[in-house]
Amino acid sequence: MPQYDIIPTGGFFGSYGGQFIPDALTPMFDAIETAYEQLKNLPAFRQELARFHRDYIGRPSPVYHARALSKQYGADIYIKREDLNHTGAHKINHCIGEVLLAKHMGKKKVLAETGAGQHGVALATAAAVLGMPCDVYMGTVDIEKQAPNVLRMQMLGARVVPVTSGGRTLKAAVDAALEAYMNDPEHLFFAIGSVVGPHPFPAIVRDFQRIVGEEARKQVQEQAGRLPDSLVACVGGGSNAIGLFSAFLEDEAIAIYAVEPGGKGTKLGEHAATLRYGSPGTIHGMYTYLLQDEKGEPAPVHSIASGLDYPGVGPQHSFLHDSKRMRCEVVTDAECIDAFYDLSRIEGIIPALESAHAVAFCKTLAKREPGSLILMNLSGRGDKDIDFVHAHYPRP
Ligand SMILES: *Cc1c(COP(=O)(O)O)cnc(C)c1O
Repeated sequence: MPQYDIIPTGGFFGSYGGQFIPDALTPMFDAIETAYEQLKNLPAFRQELARFHRDYIGRPSPVYHARALSKQYGADIYIKREDLNHTGAHKINHCIGEVLLAKHMGKKKVLAETGAGQHGVALATAAAVLGMPCDVYMGTVDIEKQAPNVLRMQMLGARVVPVTSGGRTLKAAVDAALEAYMNDPEHLFFAIGSVVGPHPFPAIVRDFQRIVGEEARKQVQEQAGRLPDSLVACVGGGSNAIGLFSAFLEDEAIAIYAVEPGGKGTKLGEHAATLRYGSPGTIHGMYTYLLQDEKGEPAPVHSIASGLDYPGVGPQHSFLHDSKRMRCEVVTDAECIDAFYDLSRIEGIIPALESAHAVAFCKTLAKREPGSLILMNLSGRGDKDIDFVHAHYPRP
């Protein structure tokens, strides 16, 4: 009987998760769960998903033995190359799955919010190829900052809806997208961007990311002749991490490290290290670890990597953290930048700033456990980050 890799009972991973939503929405989320349970075992669906994996996303993504970095850091580092996927990150894995589910349910449109635009672009891509209209809500502050991603979404045929309320960033965009969804939940599908939100989304998104760990487990055994000693992945909401971890949870000898953004310091507002510094509370329809102020409101967060800049975390991660199956580690903005340059210059791979957090922790872990075999998830490529790094952290 699996102990950690559970199907949540009643929507809970231990005491985390659940459905903290208005009563009027409960039937909608129950319908999503029923439809998903039906769909996931249909042979036609499994074939369609496999076709998208192979011919569209470009799966399996390779596992690459990073020999030069291994030598430099002092451990044997294998990298799961989610950066090589179509659109450059792991998010396409669950976006394709969610849009297939929306179509199966006969929905007329998918919608989502986006901050930096990564989820918006992945969703707009999946919606384009599957012929589904797509609205992406985005604060006007972010629209100005993330012009290339806004253009990308528009090229892909999505409608970018500017949000001018509140702080005009991610939180306002979430509120606006939720309001639009509440007005017509019959015909709309809210495509959540990570393993967060009310049940069943943390389980659905996790299932669509499992492929990462399933492939990596076989690949590392073929190449190294054994299983890894440890797994490393960065955690924002936690989708790329749980995708890798899922295939190894029952192998208790394998250490699992979730790497959180330590930002500029340890004070509230200077980081987004939810498991390390947070406490349980309710956010976005789930009970989970949360960075909160005295009133229980989500606190302001900071990370150099916008994809990690989230005050909550997926409920399964909260459960794995409490049960001590997974350890959380913190990497600062400065360590992230060092690792960004390391991977670029030692291996010729420019990582996303999110993924560079995982690279940075490999350095620390290699010092702790020299010569050990580390399997790290490289969640995305860094093309989107080079202008920023060049402007603020140039190096000769
Ligand atoms: C969005 C994003 C993340 C963070 O999301 P998770 O759900 O925690 O995986 C990490 N890496 C990249 C490249 C991203 O785009």
